[in-house]
Amino acid sequence: MTALANVLHRFQLERAGVRGAIVRLDQAWQRIRANGDYSGPLAELLGQTVAASALFTSPIKFEGRLAIHLRDSGALRLLFADCTHDGQLRGIARWDGEQPPSRVSLETDARLAITIENAVTDTRYQGLVPVEHGDLAGAFEGYFQRSEQLPTRLVLAANTQRCGGLMLQQVATGGGAPQGDADGWNRAEHLLATLTAGELLDLPPDQVLLRLFHEEDVRLQAAQPLAFGCTCSRERVGGMLRSLGRAENEAVLAEQGSVQVTCEFCNRRYVFDEAEVNELFADAPRAEAMPTRH
Ligand SMILES: [Zn+2]
Repeated sequence: MTALANVLHRFQLERAGVRGAIVRLDQAWQRIRANGDYSGPLAELLGQTVAASALFTSPIKFEGRLAIHLRDSGALRLLFADCTHDGQLRGIARWDGEQPPSRVSLETDARLAITIENAVTDTRYQGLVPVEHGDLAGAFEGYFQRSEQLPTRLVLAANTQRCGGLMLQQVATGGGAPQGDADGWNRAEHLLATLTAGELLDLPPDQVLLRLFHEEDVRLQAAQPLAFGCTCSRERVGGMLRSLGRAENEAVLAEQGSVQVTCEFCNRRYVFDEAEVNELFADAPRAEAMPTRH
C-alpha cells in the first residue's frame, strides 16, 4: 500500500471481531483550513470534526452525505463538516466577534448532530448527541453506543497541516453476540489507547495499523481517496434565493444591480442579474408592496 495522503481505509481485525477505519488528510484539510484561515485550537477542533465526518461514512452503505453540526453557546457558535459517499469533504467554523476565539472549550450545553442525507431515497436521518466533559471523541462514542448499541472507540487529531482519525467498532454476530474471541474487543480497545496524536498525524496509515495491531490479523480494504469538494451549485443557490422571497431579492437588485452570493465553503461566487432573478420567481406572484421596476 502506498502512503497516500488523503485517504480512508476500512479494515477488520479478524481475530478480535472488530471493524475499523482510519482516515488521514493533508491537502484536503489544508484547503478547508485556508478557506476560513482557521488556526490554533479552532483549527484543531475543526480538523477533528472533518476527520470524524469521513470516518463515520465508513460503516454505512449510502449515496449522499453525512454531516456533523456542533452548536455551542460559547464564543464558538458552530462547527460543521460533511463528507459525501464518494469522499468529498468540506467544513466551516463560525464564532462571535471579529477575531476567532483563541481558546476553545466546548460548553456543557454544546450539541452535536449527525445527519445522513440519502440522495437515492431522498431521506434524511438526524441523531443528536450531548457533549459531556467538552470531549468530541467521547461524545461520538456515546452517540454510537446509544443510537446503534455499538461499542465504539475513537481517536481524533489535527494540527494546521494534517488531520486524522481512527475508529474501532465491535462487530456482533446475527445473534447479537460479539463476533471475535472473548477478549477481542478489550484487546483492541487497549491497543488503540496507546495511539498518540503524533503517530496518527505523522505515520502513514498502514504503519499506524501495523504498529497497533500487528498481532491481530488486520484485513485492510482498498483505500478510498478523499478530497476537498463542495456540493454547492447555481441551482441550490437559486433555491435559497427563492426561499428568501421576491421582495428581499428585488431590494438587493435595486441597491446593488445584481444579487451576489458567495459560498462560504468554497468561496465560489454566484451572480444573478435582474433577468435571472425574475426567472427564479417566474411562477410566483409579484410582491405587491414592491414598486414596479423598469
Ligand atoms: Zn461551495
